[in-house]
Amino acid sequence: MHKSQLWLQERHLERTADALRNNHFETYVEPTRDLANVRLLELISPGETVGFAGSITLNEIGIKHFLQERGNIILDPFHPGLSKADSLRIRREIFLSDVFVTGANAIVESGRIVNMDGTGNRVAATIFGPKRVIFVAGVNKLVPTLDAAMHRIYHVAGAANSHRLEVRTPCADDGFCSDCRATDRSCCVTVITERPPKWTPTIVLLVNESLGL
Ligand code: SF4
Repeated sequence: MHKSQLWLQERHLERTADALRNNHFETYVEPTRDLANVRLLELISPGETVGFAGSITLNEIGIKHFLQERGNIILDPFHPGLSKADSLRIRREIFLSDVFVTGANAIVESGRIVNMDGTGNRVAATIFGPKRVIFVAGVNKLVPTLDAAMHRIYHVAGAANSHRLEVRTPCADDGFCSDCRATDRSCCVTVITERPPKWTPTIVLLVNESLGL
């Protein structure tokens, strides 16, 4: 990527970070996924229990591996080979974790975080339960307005995620959101985090790379 493009992205990230800080989110901007991992390993103490939900962003940066290597206990409901019952149990245990790390569907330039969920465990854990929450988002998640966030969620993240999971929704086939009534619909619960919830310190880590869907 041309250095001027990287510079421009960094300016947008820094401006959004200022808006997030103004809304009382502890916020960091890192230029690369490698430095994002370094930051996460600083923000999460050895010995802390760390909960995850499904996140392409976090899979791409590989933080679970580094935490496991350091000895942190990982609660991952998507660990390969888990039964449905164990996956559900872990989703519940995450509410008692020390820190919940998740991606974000959209970060609004006014300093708000927008997430959509199908089952709701991911968005619920960002509100109450874990002792603190860390959102990690690539520069591709920045949007100018709440309307743009919803458009991104339905027409980019929702459709691409449905296709990835090979679920039976119209968007998984044609790539377009039709506000479906499918039983596999992944767009069921939206949470707009405008400020850190009262008892949940919330950190945002922005990365100057395209990450996730
Ligand atoms: S078609 Fe359904 S599952 Fe797909 S993005 Fe739209 S509401 Fe979500």
